[in-house]
Amino acid sequence: MLKGTVFTVTQFKNYTTFAANQQAITINQFSLTVMSSNNELFAKLASMGHEQVVLCHDEHTGLKAIVAIHNTVLGPALGGTRMWQYVNDEEALIDALRLSEGMTYKSAISGLNLGGGKAVIIGDSRKNKSEALFRRYGKFIDSLGGKYITAEDVGTSKGDMEFIAMETKHVTGLPEHRGGSGDPSPVTAYGVFMGLKAAVKKVYGHDHLEGKKVLVQGTGNVGTNLIDMLIKEGAHISISDIFEDQIQRVTKLHPGVKVVDPAKIYEQEVDIYAPCALGATLNDETIPSLKCKIVAGAANNQLKDTAVHAKMLQDRGILYAPDFLINAGGIINVYSELEGYNRQNALSKTEGIYSQTLRLFDFAEQNNLTTHEAAVQMALRRIDDIRKLRANR
Ligand code: NAD
Repeated sequence: MLKGTVFTVTQFKNYTTFAANQQAITINQFSLTVMSSNNELFAKLASMGHEQVVLCHDEHTGLKAIVAIHNTVLGPALGGTRMWQYVNDEEALIDALRLSEGMTYKSAISGLNLGGGKAVIIGDSRKNKSEALFRRYGKFIDSLGGKYITAEDVGTSKGDMEFIAMETKHVTGLPEHRGGSGDPSPVTAYGVFMGLKAAVKKVYGHDHLEGKKVLVQGTGNVGTNLIDMLIKEGAHISISDIFEDQIQRVTKLHPGVKVVDPAKIYEQEVDIYAPCALGATLNDETIPSLKCKIVAGAANNQLKDTAVHAKMLQDRGILYAPDFLINAGGIINVYSELEGYNRQNALSKTEGIYSQTLRLFDFAEQNNLTTHEAAVQMALRRIDDIRKLRANR
């Protein structure tokens, strides 16, 4: 049984709300059988504690979207909209659920007055985008009355956010010429840099990066900005990417970096491994091969299984800087947009990731927790404190 969870199916012709424990139901070709017939999925929903999961279907534009609102105790649920060609609806739902839960922890531990939410649009971002689709989606977000605020994510762009903004004010990540915060990647990279330095301080007793060997996996928007900062501090950089043009973006600027074959990345002798590509790179296969002392990078959901793989890293004596803490620069950046954007303010707040990461390492040590467990506990503790504060008013 799902306590406190409401599924809302929103369509522009019909508006239907139904309890999550109802029988299989099909509305205008949008089949929910997959959820209702799969007890494991319901158990997962119950254990993750989402407040609301909203499905949206619009036949005219082909829009199929899922908005997962995990927690709104601290404020409206802010999280990006991902556009991805999922294998099936269940995979899309699971992604939305996992990502939105992560956003709750990210905002809470970063001291933001935001809840956790995330949305997915099911579709190929290279083929299925249109102005009408994003404006329809914008109307749909508007119908949630500000409970969910969206932003860019994988497969969506600032241009898409502009279409959404034509239909709702509950959108961030707009271009700078529209008063928005623009590309969040440099701010995200700065936060990762701060978290990485905090990890170096914990392991080596000082936070100088001169001479430290850092392997950056993924030379995309965040990775390239991070590399610039690391090189300025005298770190020795190895890089890896699956695309040659992405590698060349870095080697043209920094001819001294070492390029590593993606297949050999986990066996490199380095001090720090910085995952800045995709998630789940810390798993049963990779962790035993690692030769680093620190893992600190931007990628979301780096641990394939949070409990198992955080412990495996700890047992191997590798310090893991939790992804959702050190990659929070992006959300800090869009949060600043809500208050009237100022990049300097966003960078100053992002700098706080350094001290928060050190606090986290101490908390984990004192309580005999993995760093991931400690980060989740710190986030939940803040949410609980604020919930009690409100209850006592
Ligand atoms: P991006 O798409 O610009 O870069 C990712 C890079 O990783 C690409 O160059 C891609 O070719 C490469 N890559 C993919 N698979 C690889 C593999 N197996 N080995 C090596 N390289 C591989 O993305 P980004 O904006 O730089 O974000 C990087 C990561 O950080 C993502 O996981 C993203 O979710 C996360 N993140 C980004 C932000 C942000 O502000 N951009 C904020 C928080 C988290």
